[in-house]
Amino acid sequence: PTTLTDELGIALSNLADSATGVFTPTLRLGVTGLSRAGKTIFITALVHNLLTQGRLPGFAPLADGRFIGAKLAEYPDATIPRFAYEQHLAALTANPPFWPESTRRISQLRIVIKYQSAKWWSGMRGPATLNLDIVDYPGEWLLDLPLLGLSFAEWSAQALDRARQPGHEAEATEFLRELDSTDISRDANDIDAERLASAFTTYLRRSREHGALSTLPPGRFLLPGDLEGSPALTFAPLPRPVGTHRNSSLYAMLENRYESYKDRIVRPFFRDHFARLDRQIVLVDTLRALNAGPAAVNDLEVALTEVLACFRQGESNLLLRPFNRRVDRILFAATKADHVHHTSHDRLEAILNRLVGMARNRARFAGAETRSIAMAGIRSTSEGTIRENGETLPTLIGTPLNGEVLDGTSYDGKTEIALFPGDLPERPDSLFENGNPVGLNFLRFAPPQRLERNADGEPVLPHIRLDRALDYLIGDWMA
Ligand code: GDP
Repeated sequence: PTTLTDELGIALSNLADSATGVFTPTLRLGVTGLSRAGKTIFITALVHNLLTQGRLPGFAPLADGRFIGAKLAEYPDATIPRFAYEQHLAALTANPPFWPESTRRISQLRIVIKYQSAKWWSGMRGPATLNLDIVDYPGEWLLDLPLLGLSFAEWSAQALDRARQPGHEAEATEFLRELDSTDISRDANDIDAERLASAFTTYLRRSREHGALSTLPPGRFLLPGDLEGSPALTFAPLPRPVGTHRNSSLYAMLENRYESYKDRIVRPFFRDHFARLDRQIVLVDTLRALNAGPAAVNDLEVALTEVLACFRQGESNLLLRPFNRRVDRILFAATKADHVHHTSHDRLEAILNRLVGMARNRARFAGAETRSIAMAGIRSTSEGTIRENGETLPTLIGTPLNGEVLDGTSYDGKTEIALFPGDLPERPDSLFENGNPVGLNFLRFAPPQRLERNADGEPVLPHIRLDRALDYLIGDWMA
């Protein structure tokens, strides 16, 4: 449960500011999404654009001329890793630029923003200050919430059921074979535990690689953060032994580990980090799912449902009730919108909106306000047109990453090309005709090669709709 100590912690961190005699509001913004959805890029772009007052016409405080400035500040909690902003920016602005390392664990960063309030009476008070605390965490960790309500026997039954379903043989066979050759009633030993856990992890990884965009819990098995190899992650689902089992059995050992995974890892994450967020952005690689076909889109919808369930409010969500939640706005963002022409951006938004809508119904969601947007934290393409067979086609111009292949041509990471990316369907419900993918020409591009500089000589990072995202997430706190 949220304890007095938690509340005291929050109270103390606010008090810290009172040394200067003013109370500074702190907005805690969660940034999440499954692995490679674009969290690192989004945060780096957001921070850079705030610090350098980038091109953000859709962000009201800047557009109104009320934005005074922003700077990075020491994060109040020294025990949490800092988001490596400088390192990531250095990668993106290097010559040649490269994509930085992705999110592997939780990290945080504080930006202090000075602004002039738009309210008429505030002119008398002078500029106002907002602490923006950005909390970056793997979306995989959210999928662990249901575990809090499941015993080891219940979770095992679900997990084994899924592994045995037709269609999962390719991923699951090896794990199931390991399981069959293990006598779970024999005495506990680390070698068996490690063998099973490692086979189970391989199975989870493979299901992920086979296009399953949604992830199966436990989330830390895929993104262990700092826990790689620790006993808390050394368990696997087991069939319930017949009759009673001894306390010294392998079954009892793994059951204990499962329980301590919940108590020591899952619960503290929700209590200490998740429950304190004010706003949340969920990044979704919608284009990748569209490109992969109906099964991947279906998986994505399942994952979105699970994510939404974490934000559900009210009596129904018993698992979270002990924690004091307060997220009042969630923004779902289809990332990497620079992979399609701008004429498809609204369509991409509509598709995500529809998926989120379906997920909302499935999660019987009553909670925060939600919205969907198509965006790119960093825009790595520009646009042009080509004429083909008397037709004018909109194209993207960019440098495909080294090793990318399309229509038999493989790219070296140095050559700029013009590409007709294909159109997204006008109506989200006509997504898959005859169950086929929508037929995008999908290539991963290198970061923008030549960056403009602003008047202060700072690089300008191009983006798509980052300003609108920012306005929805923090604009009203600076009204
Ligand atoms: P995460 O931290 O795991 O969520 O993911 P990253 O932010 O590291 O993004 C993973 C990869 O997706 C990057 O290395 C880029 O190749 C690509 N990517 C992310 N955001 C963008 C974007 O806005 N535009 C483009 N073109 N690629 C992006």
